[in-house]
Amino acid sequence: MRTAVFSTKPYDQESLLAANTQAGHELVFYSPRLTPESVKLAAGFPAICAFVSDQLDAPVLEYLAAEGTRLITLRCAGFNQVDLRAAARLGLTILRVPAYSPYAVAEHAVGMMLALNRKFHKAYNRVREGNFNLAGLLGFDMHGRTVGVIGTGKIGECAARILLGFGCRVLAHDVVENPACVAAGVQYASLPDVLAQADIITLHCPLLPSTYHLINEAAFAQMKRGVMLINTSRGALVDAAAAICALKSGHLGYLGLDVYEEEGDLFFEDFSQKVIHDDIFTRLLTFNNVLITGHQAFFTADALKQIALTTVANLTAFERGESLVNQVAADK
Ligand code: NAD
Repeated sequence: MRTAVFSTKPYDQESLLAANTQAGHELVFYSPRLTPESVKLAAGFPAICAFVSDQLDAPVLEYLAAEGTRLITLRCAGFNQVDLRAAARLGLTILRVPAYSPYAVAEHAVGMMLALNRKFHKAYNRVREGNFNLAGLLGFDMHGRTVGVIGTGKIGECAARILLGFGCRVLAHDVVENPACVAAGVQYASLPDVLAQADIITLHCPLLPSTYHLINEAAFAQMKRGVMLINTSRGALVDAAAAICALKSGHLGYLGLDVYEEEGDLFFEDFSQKVIHDDIFTRLLTFNNVLITGHQAFFTADALKQIALTTVANLTAFERGESLVNQVAADK
């Protein structure tokens, strides 16, 4: 299919071209994000391939539908950036990559826990300067600590298994219990109980109207003093302003973020020579107990390969009129 591929970096092009050798879809790569301004590039393409920070709201979808687009295939698992009701009304099919490497994201989340706990980021710089003083690098044993996993789907289950391997007590909350987690030794509890008992909390639920600012001022107040919070899921699960208040008071002891509510204007781009105008984001950067990565949890060679293979398979299935196993329904 003739497909306009938005938000592409050289690594996306490489993996998609490799996956497309047999299928032979006509992939046209665009580096800009899909926005109301850049959508004109998509005119006349029957298929669009989009990423997490592409804007797929009603006006953009209306333009696409009017110009002949019938398929939008996402190179990601989350689909909170798509107005699904508008897509259904306009007859647009939305496909995604529901699973590529849950290990990549879970391993990154646990990596953030270890880095914040054992302060690898500080030790790296200190040792390079010939400073072998350990003051300020004191950590704690993960073994025996309680980790709260919120959302025990594919990624949450992987994270829970890694943490059980460390000897942590894993306490989870989900709207649906995962029997594989129970069998592995995860205990389920209500959200208030998880918030109250956990030494570390890691978020692995999707962004939905019901999970928007799930971690807000009231949630921070229920947590233990000195708790660690890790968010590799979606930025808007956490009220960043409330996180700053909790960091300032010392109630939140450590914060690891791979995602940020307003990341769309920042992440995946180089701002090293520019001014960052987001004052909440820049305030977060000033805390020495905050570690931020720019939505890179998915970014392993294994994950990129699988994302590309599934994306190409999605295009082929749609073109051939086959059953669409990766379709996102409007009622999601
Ligand atoms: P999944 O669908 O397998 O699991 C999500 C789980 O969250 C499900 O078990 C679901 O029941 C649960 N859930 C839904 N509402 C909940 C609520 N209110 N409270 C608690 N749990 C709730 O999804 P997944 O593959 O594990 O991915 C999880 C999220 O990770 C995705 O939605 C996506 O936003 C994010 N993600 C981030 C990256 C990254 O690079 N940072 C990459 C991939 C996915």
